[in-house]
Amino acid sequence: MSYAEDYKKYRGKCKEFCEALIIERPELTMVRGHYFEISWGRDEAHWWCTEPDGTIVDPTSKQFPSGGMVENYTPYSGFSDCEECGKSIPEARIIMQGRYTMCSDRCAMKLVGLL
Ligand SMILES: [Zn+2]
Repeated sequence: MSYAEDYKKYRGKCKEFCEALIIERPELTMVRGHYFEISWGRDEAHWWCTEPDGTIVDPTSKQFPSGGMVENYTPYSGFSDCEECGKSIPEARIIMQGRYTMCSDRCAMKLVGLL
């Protein structure tokens, strides 16, 4: 399959592919976090699975041009950084501005140039 076909098939479906895989292989653990895609230059929210020994099993790695390089997976820590001021914020307090994470309305307004 070409990359374009893989992209269409797997893009945004990481969670459902993991859920299906884990039914067949209950020894796996589902992990939420992000994947840094080098050719896009950004982190993508992502789900994958790990073996009991920690080996990554990613049923949708083909949605990324770099194809799931082990060193680019980062499990979610429960915190995100504000895109504006860089402050680390717990998930419950994150304000989403488009696809950006913000610590406060003030930072969200700064991002769009209103402050
Ligand atoms: Zn901020």
